[in-house]
Amino acid sequence: MRFILASNNKGKLREIKDIFSELDLDAQVVSQREAGYEIEAEETGDTFAENALIKAKAALDASGVPSIADDSGLCVDALGGAPGVFSARYGGEGSSDGDKILLLLKNMEGAEQRSARFVSSIVCVFPNGDTLKSEGVCQGVILREPRGENGFGYDPVFYLPELGKSMAELSEEEKNRVSHRGRAVRAFGEKLREYMKGNNNADK
Ligand code: IMP
Repeated sequence: MRFILASNNKGKLREIKDIFSELDLDAQVVSQREAGYEIEAEETGDTFAENALIKAKAALDASGVPSIADDSGLCVDALGGAPGVFSARYGGEGSSDGDKILLLLKNMEGAEQRSARFVSSIVCVFPNGDTLKSEGVCQGVILREPRGENGFGYDPVFYLPELGKSMAELSEEEKNRVSHRGRAVRAFGEKLREYMKGNNNADK
């Protein structure tokens, strides 16, 4: 079965393809751009799952092919869960990853409580209306300054105490093993395996 990945975020696309390729599924995933579609769905949802559904539906409507979207972000306890669904737009449209990190560190100046989590919500929609959903969470702590060069987004300031490294100090394989996206895509892969066997396990 062929799937469209409803994203233009290079970091996300690389991770999802890598994690997916390890699942040994009879499934091929291509990004919407690789499939020839320029789609910018407006993320008007209040939750990661709502926004993932909006993006997956937009890709399905354009292509007619089963479509998968990840909506993800960083939720910081000291900021009441912000930036949350606004993680990509933190600091305004067009702000760079570096700008977002600087704003986050500024908003957390003086904060002793630095716990945070990355969340990834995966939604897959099929032309017959069936939907599969999964979610993955990764707990960590916001550093006081960036560390590491790998990954993307907020990875340099997201510290994993049990590994003693920031997300940006992990190799791609290490990140995929522990990340919110790794967990969400693997959970989705198990649901998809059952679905492709003909078991009616679609989500509401
Ligand atoms: P969206 O899902 O396209 O709305 O964007 C999610 C945003 O959350 C990204 O642009 C990043 O800023 C942030 N984000 C999501 N996942 C990660 C990750 O794995 N590492 C670092 N930042 C992430």
